[in-house]
Amino acid sequence: MPIQRKTPAKKTTRKTHPARLIGDGAGSSSTPPKKPSLILLEDSVVRSRNKFPTPQFHGAFPPGFLHPGSSISVSHFTLQDVGRILEEAAELEAMPVFRRAQRFAKRRVALLFYESSTRTRTSFELAAKSLGADTVLVSALSSSIEKGESLKDTGITLRSLGAECIILRHPNSGAPYLLGRATGLPILNAGDGSHEHPSQALLDLRAILAHFPAKKGETARRKHAITDRTLDGITVTIVGDILHSRVARSNALLLPRLGARVIFCGPEVLLPEYAAAIGTGVEIERDFERALKQSNVVMMLRIQKERLSGLEIDLEDYMEQYQLHMERLAAYAPTAMILHPGPMIRGLEITSAVADGPNSAVAEQVYHGSIIRMALLARALDAKPGKNERSSRSR
Ligand code: ASP
Ligand code: ASP
Repeated sequence: MPIQRKTPAKKTTRKTHPARLIGDGAGSSSTPPKKPSLILLEDSVVRSRNKFPTPQFHGAFPPGFLHPGSSISVSHFTLQDVGRILEEAAELEAMPVFRRAQRFAKRRVALLFYESSTRTRTSFELAAKSLGADTVLVSALSSSIEKGESLKDTGITLRSLGAECIILRHPNSGAPYLLGRATGLPILNAGDGSHEHPSQALLDLRAILAHFPAKKGETARRKHAITDRTLDGITVTIVGDILHSRVARSNALLLPRLGARVIFCGPEVLLPEYAAAIGTGVEIERDFERALKQSNVVMMLRIQKERLSGLEIDLEDYMEQYQLHMERLAAYAPTAMILHPGPMIRGLEITSAVADGPNSAVAEQVYHGSIIRMALLARALDAKPGKNERSSRSR
């Protein structure tokens, strides 16, 4: 029996299509915002992201748009940027702890979290602390903060209190752009609605590179330069709720640029046909076992029930077709590396035997997350806005 949708297909698909939901409250399940609170649709970068297919925007921010230390979308990074971030990560990883703690001593970093998080928040916070920075956490979870103006005001308040960088998690796709424009500070996107989770894609990349040792003669290439061939021959299958996943989106925007093949796998209700148009190098395979046979890396995703907005999934069917369990893994991808961004719903998309089994690299992902987040923070705190960059004060 196929996975059922109890609400009319067209209507809900349109409602939840992440590419069309920039800034319109994609993430809030219970209280859809009345009006787009993010008024950035006028800006070229945001406007172009709202079209399909996703534009290729690899490079510096246009002058005056956002602080150059920001990490909001992987599409802003050139391959050179990615290489530099990985290099910085390796340097910070190798640095003696006490020296690392001097690197940004007493600099101020704010974490602004409008959605819950364990890994991302903790690893950003510990990363900032291990660089010597002072951190403050503002969590909007328990308040009924309205989006838009109050996000802007909160950002301005944090800046007035001396924050030099803001790490933002927000249920609305595009919120980091608003905060960046409002404050002029570097913004690190820790997940915005169904849009992006760039630090997750970078940590997944680092985990993949560490897992597949470079062949002879490739070490230099892997270590010092990221190219469009770095992940040649590697097929990454991303499985499950692709429609709502910012992790899937950031990975699918990044990995094919390094030569990887990305397969999206899932039922139509969570993976519409148009998803493959996100970029070249991305394909759809509905049959999980056929996808597994081709995979070197399998990334399992949680069903994002907070973003389903009326979609109803028949979980029994879903598990029958898409759960990663030991028999399936052993039969179709016995050597594949298994990733999961967390939180894992054991017994639903993945069984405990797989999550804790020899193929699982979930713990490695968390480790690489803390290193990558140090590198992104270093990039943010080192960057200076250029002459042409206007801060919000001049607007
Ligand atoms: N990676 C997820 C996060 O954003 C997992 C979690 O929330 O525990 O933190
Ligand atoms: N932790 C990831 C995110 O924040 C994935 C998830 O929540 O399922 O997007």
